[in-house]
Amino acid sequence: METRWLYNTSETLPKLCEAAEKTCVIPMGCVEKHGLHLPLGQDIIQASHLTYMASQLETVCVFPDFIFGDVPGKVPYSAPYGDICIPLETQMLLLEQLCVQISDNGFKKIIIFNAHGGNNLWLPAFLRNLCNKDYDFVVTVYSVGLPAPHIMAEILEKEGSGSIPELTKEDEELIIKYHNENMLIGHGCFGETAYMMGISPESVHLDRLGIESGQNLHKADHLIEAGLRLRSNGWEFNYPNAYSGDDPIGCNERIGKAALRIEAEHAAKAFKAFKEDTLLSDWQNEHRWR
Ligand SMILES: [Zn+2]
Repeated sequence: METRWLYNTSETLPKLCEAAEKTCVIPMGCVEKHGLHLPLGQDIIQASHLTYMASQLETVCVFPDFIFGDVPGKVPYSAPYGDICIPLETQMLLLEQLCVQISDNGFKKIIIFNAHGGNNLWLPAFLRNLCNKDYDFVVTVYSVGLPAPHIMAEILEKEGSGSIPELTKEDEELIIKYHNENMLIGHGCFGETAYMMGISPESVHLDRLGIESGQNLHKADHLIEAGLRLRSNGWEFNYPNAYSGDDPIGCNERIGKAALRIEAEHAAKAFKAFKEDTLLSDWQNEHRWR
């Protein structure tokens, strides 16, 4: 079934709405630097791809991408490089209005499928704020996980060699090695590199590794340790290269395909749980005050 909103017609969308049990998913990311080896659209590209993959496992409607997530404005980086910084209030208003549009088209359950860490700081406030409005739809957030390498290593340790069929023996050894070394994963890390390898390997530039560091500079630690809360937990000070992680050397397309499948299966289970749930909508209907 065609699950993408934009590829349906005005006649087929209502049928998708019915098949999806009125559930629609908004892929969300951002446009920002991901080290020197990954593209600016990393987060929204992976959100969009994974949402579509998961929609083929558990039918939901895939809304057009919400591209512009929250990224730090006026960051102390060295040169212009393609970040798009939209004021947060604009994003909150736009996201709410898009939810209203989705609801007006018959979808009463909305999942924000977020692949950008910076959005996790404001999306809970967005959800709370919706509770102050008299809407007839419910919204939740799904945060994309990164199976490579640690979750994949745990699967291999538990279920044995060959349990991730996309991988060769050498791939398995690499995954286990990085797991045992407690590889640092974060922004532009092995996990995100794997996703892009699986989606668009020509967009990954492993030859750019080693030029800028993904290690924590700990510049803001004294403030955080003093108990002060900083925007983005001091991200722009501690990781000025917009990269946090050990270099994903050896990451390849097979690992990427496996990571995408594992995460899409995980997301599909979340879609199913939300579709079947009545707790959120029942509570909302009981507590409508207007
Ligand atoms: Zn990212």
